[in-house]
Amino acid sequence: MDKQAIVAMDQENYLPVFARYNLVLSHGEGPYVFDNEGKKYIDFLGGIAVNVLGHAHPALVKAVSEQAGKMIHCSNLYYTEVQATLAKKLAKLSGLDKVFAGNSGAEANEGAIKLARKYGKTIAADKVEIITAEHSFHGRTLATLTATGQPKYQKGYEPLPGGFTHVPFNDIAALEASMSAKTCAVMLEPIQGEGGVNIPDADYLIKVRQLCDKYSALLILDEIQTGIGRTGKMFAYELFGIKPDIVTLAKGLAGGVPIGAFITTSKVATAFTAGDHGSTFGGNPLACAAANAVLQVIEEEKLLENAQKIGDYLVDKLNALKSKYPALITEVRGKGLIVGAKLTIPGRDIVNSCLSQGAIINCTAGDVLRFVPPLTITKDHVDEMIAVLDKTLAAV
Ligand SMILES: *Cc1c(COP(=O)(O)O)cnc(C)c1O
Repeated sequence: MDKQAIVAMDQENYLPVFARYNLVLSHGEGPYVFDNEGKKYIDFLGGIAVNVLGHAHPALVKAVSEQAGKMIHCSNLYYTEVQATLAKKLAKLSGLDKVFAGNSGAEANEGAIKLARKYGKTIAADKVEIITAEHSFHGRTLATLTATGQPKYQKGYEPLPGGFTHVPFNDIAALEASMSAKTCAVMLEPIQGEGGVNIPDADYLIKVRQLCDKYSALLILDEIQTGIGRTGKMFAYELFGIKPDIVTLAKGLAGGVPIGAFITTSKVATAFTAGDHGSTFGGNPLACAAANAVLQVIEEEKLLENAQKIGDYLVDKLNALKSKYPALITEVRGKGLIVGAKLTIPGRDIVNSCLSQGAIINCTAGDVLRFVPPLTITKDHVDEMIAVLDKTLAAV
């Protein structure tokens, strides 16, 4: 089918909630994707920080194909080896104890919110309030869009669930002023992704951890975007030298197969017993086999080191563009392979121009170019994308 026919068919019957580019993708290979007319693109969006191994990584393809041939799904009424193996790996990597798997980021956060409230009530009946940050993003379900500190995601969906307060990110005094005995949890992204790649001060999360301990509140870290090697550490909280009570994961965890998960301590997990939470698809064999393969490849191919090394290279290259175009780029910030370049103009035209020249990048928060490529990329791939961006900026 030709491109315009596919676009027309989709527009006829798919809910128009996405502002899509006029592009039909057909397949991918490593850090490249191809459109249905055979044109190749270097992909620095990676399915929004999902395709950590790039496209069609042989180990992931093999794991998914083999598992599909054995068993795609079975209910959570039974044990499977792949699920038990994933739980063991995630507990070991996170330094936490108990894992629950769902199907998306929002669902992981929903589970974390439910657990935090139930745990809070074991301390006091009114210990149910959750504090989150402005410019955060936690998902699109009713509870998670309420947790999200951006009114645009909430408008029109009132009445919203109660019990959520928002404070400025990276402002410890504002957080302290909002905390009380009623606070059951503080929920934060260690680095805000959708909000514009906002990196807090080095000691912010340490102080947040201390405040949570002082008020017997749980620290929930939403690592749906930053987790699974994105920052050059398996979990971004390792960069800050702290540990959360609950961490949530999704995007990169299974390399593109839908999955979400939260991991918590044995102590907090006691708030949940059989029947308190669940999911039909969550943690099914296909998703768990994919996640196990992703974790194995990250280790075997030393992708944490690669994310650090190539991330530093990408930041250097973007800083060179900043020096070349000081009227367009004002700041470059990143950790590993989550990198943002703050513009003085809206980013949309720049993203479109790069796309027409064969490079997929992204703009978030209106004026921050965001780069979240596969963790497998090389310096040559960076050079390829930067050349297109350079040409685009020169033409602005
Ligand atoms: C993407 C994202 C979510 C939501 O994940 P979905 O799978 O789209 O529900 C939540 N939190 C953060 C930090 C994210 O980046």
